[in-house]
Amino acid sequence: MEKEKGISRRGAIKVVGTLAAGAAASGVLGTAEAAGRKKAPRWVMVIDIRRCTGVRACVVACKAEYDTPLGAWNTVVREVESGKYPDVKKDFLPRLCNHCEGNEKEGVPPCVKICPEYPAGRKEYITPAGKKIRYRGGATYKRPDGMILLDNSLCIGCGKCIDACPYGARAFNKKLKAGKDPSKNGITKCSFCQHRVDKGVEPSCVNTCPTSSRVFGDINDPNSEVSKLAKEFKLMERSNETTILPEAGTRPQIYYIDEKNALGNYKLTKENKTDEFKAEIK
Ligand code: SF4
Repeated sequence: MEKEKGISRRGAIKVVGTLAAGAAASGVLGTAEAAGRKKAPRWVMVIDIRRCTGVRACVVACKAEYDTPLGAWNTVVREVESGKYPDVKKDFLPRLCNHCEGNEKEGVPPCVKICPEYPAGRKEYITPAGKKIRYRGGATYKRPDGMILLDNSLCIGCGKCIDACPYGARAFNKKLKAGKDPSKNGITKCSFCQHRVDKGVEPSCVNTCPTSSRVFGDINDPNSEVSKLAKEFKLMERSNETTILPEAGTRPQIYYIDEKNALGNYKLTKENKTDEFKAEIK
């Protein structure tokens, strides 16, 4: 099946999601087991650094998908240099919001926890098996399938989520006024292309990557490509080596296959995160 119909050359994304708004399940179902599961999917991305050639097709695709303002990015590809002349090397490190699981205790990422704007009522998520899961929404919120999303109609443009993210994955969006306070700008960040995934189509960056460096899917589905990669490379067991800035305790859900220690050579700290998504090439 063609990629734009939801299936990549690395395999189908096992889309079992339904819209948080309550639409009926209509995505491309991966397996009978996935279709029958009551549990929500858990979307993750695996990025194989060995495959990334730094062509930045993903960055361009993301810009086209979101029309982010000049100087703001939802995904970037950083360049990581290491070694000493003449024994030097350069790796390319794609970056985006980590759709963090959140701390062990609450399962809430810092950007969501700090958001002051959330509705009194609960939202509903419908699993592939038709089970309703009620969850707290908000101007920024975590959906039961793990997506960290934005609801601009509730946003007051305070920017607290930008400050709270240890990865600098959020920026003000000068093209978008905050829904509740139009004197302030809204926020931009990666949404895992929720609008596409809910319709059974993989994220635009994944669809565009010419080397299949980015793989997206449901980690709760043992037959998904991401599950197979996670098993093969022990991505979850080794999350201290396969995720960015694990010491922040947010449990990122972007996993890297990183045999050359690009993550170890990448100097992201809580202190220097500011410009991560405001300039593509440093
Ligand atoms: Fe929130 Fe930042 Fe984690 Fe994304 S990377 S979920 S913005 S804390």
